[in-house]
Amino acid sequence: MKGSQAMNDPLVKNGEELLTTGTAAEGEITSAPETALDPGATPEETPIISLRKVSKTYNAGTAKEVKVLKGINLDIYPGEVVVLVGPSGCGKSTLLRSMNLIAPPDTGSITFKGKTWSNSQIDFFDFKARKAEAQALAQWRMSMGMVFQSFNLFPHKTVLQNAMIGPLRAKNINRDQAERLARAGLKKVGMDQKADFFPSALSGGQKQRVAIARALAMEPDVMLFDEATSALDPELRIDILEEMKQLAAEGMTMIVVTHELAFAREVGSRVIFMESGQIAEDGPAKETIDNPTHPRFIEFLRALHH
Ligand code: ADP
Repeated sequence: MKGSQAMNDPLVKNGEELLTTGTAAEGEITSAPETALDPGATPEETPIISLRKVSKTYNAGTAKEVKVLKGINLDIYPGEVVVLVGPSGCGKSTLLRSMNLIAPPDTGSITFKGKTWSNSQIDFFDFKARKAEAQALAQWRMSMGMVFQSFNLFPHKTVLQNAMIGPLRAKNINRDQAERLARAGLKKVGMDQKADFFPSALSGGQKQRVAIARALAMEPDVMLFDEATSALDPELRIDILEEMKQLAAEGMTMIVVTHELAFAREVGSRVIFMESGQIAEDGPAKETIDNPTHPRFIEFLRALHH
C-alpha cells in the first residue's frame, strides 16, 4: 500500500499498517520461548507477553532524533489489566504499538505466547522465510486486538462489514465464518442490532463499540486500548469504560493507556507509570495510585487531581 491510498485507509496510521497479512516488519519470529519456565513454576506464572531491553528511537541520527523507549523490561501475565499512565509523549502509545509490532522495536526482544520476536534481518531473497515471517506476524497481530482513540471505521461499509474485515483479511476463513465472528463481537458490545447501519448513523460511543467488536472478532488473547475514550463526551466515555470493565471481568488480558484514574483504580489490577521512555513505577493499581512513591508519579497524580 502506498502514498495517499495508504493515508486514506483507516487501518493505516502514521504510514504504518495496523493490520496486515502481507508485509513483514523487519525482524524474526522464532518459536523458542525466551523465558523458560522455572522448575516448579505453575502455568499461571508464565507471562503471556515478555519484553526484554526493548528500545525504540524515531528519526535516529537526525536533528529530530527522539529516544522513545529506553530498555523496557516487562512481563504481562494472563488475566492482568495493566493500566499505563504517564505524561504526554513519554512513550505509552509507542510501547503498545511495539508490543503488537505495528512499531517494531529497534533492539530487544518480545515474547508473546511462546514465540519470540527480535530485530534481525531476513535475507530479502529467501522468499520462503519471508512468507513464513509474514504469516507469523499476521498471527501475532491478530492475537493482540487494538483499539485506538480514533475509531478508524470505513465510512462506506456497514457495521457488520467493518467488523468482518479483520477476520477476512487475517484469518484463513470464508465469509460465513467471518460473519459469525463479527456478529459475535458485535453482540458482545451490544451492537448486533446496528449491524446494517453505516458508521455515519452512529454516535461516537457506538462507533468505538464497533471498533472494539472489530478487534474481538479476531478472537484475540490480549486487548490493547490506546486512549480509547479520550475522543468521547463524558457520558459516552463511561459507556465505553463499562464495556472495558466487562471485558476485564470476563478475564481478558488488557493493557490500557488512559488518563481515567478512577477506571485504573477500580478495574486495573496493575498500574505502570512511564516517564521519558522508561518504567518509573509498577505495582498493584489501587495501592500504587493511593500511595505512589516515585516523585514524578506523585507530581503527575497531583496535576491530574487539579
Ligand atoms: P504517549 O503515548 O506517551 O503520549 P507516544 O508514544 O505517542 O507518547 O510518543 C512518544 C514520543 O515519540 C513523542 O515525542 C512523539 O512525538 C514521538 N513519536 C511517536 N510516534 C512517532 C513517529 N511515528 N515518528 C516520529 N516520532 C514519533
